[in-house]
Amino acid sequence: QVVTRFAPSPTGYLHIGGARTALFSWAYAKNKGGKMLLRIEDTDRERSTEAAVVALIDGLKWLGLDWEGEPISQFARASRHAEVAHELVKMGHAYYCYCSPEELDQMREEARAAGKPPRYNGYWRDRDPKEAPEGVSPVIRIKAPLSGEIVVHDHVQGDVVFKTENLDDFIILRSDGTPTYMHAVVVDDHDMGVTHIIRGDDHLTNAARQIVIYNAMGWTVPEMAHIPLIHGPDGAKLSKRHGALGVEAYRQMGYLPAAVRNYLARLGWSHGDEEIFSTEQMVEWFSLEALNKGAARFDFVKLENINGHYIREADPTYLYNVMIDTAKEVGREDDVKGLIANHNTVLAALPELQPRAKTVLELIDLAQFIYALRPITPDASAAALLTPEAKTILASIAETLGGLADWSVPAIDGAMRQLAEEKGLKLGKLAQPLRAALTGRTVSPGIFEVMVLIGREESMARLGDQIA
Ligand code: GLU
Repeated sequence: QVVTRFAPSPTGYLHIGGARTALFSWAYAKNKGGKMLLRIEDTDRERSTEAAVVALIDGLKWLGLDWEGEPISQFARASRHAEVAHELVKMGHAYYCYCSPEELDQMREEARAAGKPPRYNGYWRDRDPKEAPEGVSPVIRIKAPLSGEIVVHDHVQGDVVFKTENLDDFIILRSDGTPTYMHAVVVDDHDMGVTHIIRGDDHLTNAARQIVIYNAMGWTVPEMAHIPLIHGPDGAKLSKRHGALGVEAYRQMGYLPAAVRNYLARLGWSHGDEEIFSTEQMVEWFSLEALNKGAARFDFVKLENINGHYIREADPTYLYNVMIDTAKEVGREDDVKGLIANHNTVLAALPELQPRAKTVLELIDLAQFIYALRPITPDASAAALLTPEAKTILASIAETLGGLADWSVPAIDGAMRQLAEEKGLKLGKLAQPLRAALTGRTVSPGIFEVMVLIGREESMARLGDQIA
């Protein structure tokens, strides 16, 4: 059975890059009928607050990614990490090192002077522990192979060869008995039965060191896929401005989880030229071989377009709830109230609004005409349409509509066309100031639909406000 894992360090949010790693690990497990596990790498006690863990889990849940069982705390497994380190010593694959910080400094100096990279010189590797200085708690170092190569057989990068002469005898257990990150990851992945490690390619060199530990323990090295990181549109490291944000920021900007999933899937993975696909399709098509070798570039415009697609396709009731949640989350209390108080009207209007919005925030803006309080303050471009001439036209419109027996789209449409004809004007000349007066904006659903949605009384009142 395929077992993948997502192993985030809790930093206070689920970073967009981490979200993509999680998505790939999840999709691969689902594709193979396997499972994904969640391991919280919380050994940095300063940063790993309860709130940071909650934020991570919230992010994953919002994205719709699930994992099997309880999240595993790496910190809680410290004694197991120590146990394996001591086992490695017994097996002769690791050893106690009693070097003082001063000795290590000197070692680095010497290496530097010899023009070599600064690293541990193996001083205690074959030394008799009886020589150990009194009262010094040792670290445990792994015996890295002295010659040859470590090859990472990577599903994305191919075979990546590391010369062992570049690996020193790195520490696996600190003198206080806590594991190093390198060691903890291996022990955890092994104990969790992880068969496939999918993670960012910033971990590729770690993989070589981790393989040293696997080999020493005689454990099977999991399959690995190191995916290129996400870059900005300019090819540089992803900056905040270009999208290096937590997923909650995307939620607050009004992106739907289905759209973010679809977009992230396309960021570093592809299935032919398919741009829009459901999560089910992604799971069905997913393979490690189709992961891209080149860095992906984050593109907000593409994300917006995909989001627009999902907004158009979404069920109005679902969207209505997302609009309220989003308005609440970003502190738009007036919108929350307006949306709740006009539940039926908003629902009825949504099919008209959906094709016009690329984000949930835009959708909320578009819905505001429904619950805008009178007198409506037109925005700048709407105000520009409300010239004295236009107000004269609005007065005639009010007169015509006042006498209308039937308040329906066809009836209003018919009356307005007739009026336009009488005045020798194009229909747009009437509709534009009308939209500005009724919605305070220059973009809205069809203006006759708007009038039916808000009703005769409200329409006439809003018209009156602008004529007066
Ligand atoms: N905790 C590491 C990170 O957040 C990932 C470790 C791994 O996937 O092996 O970058």
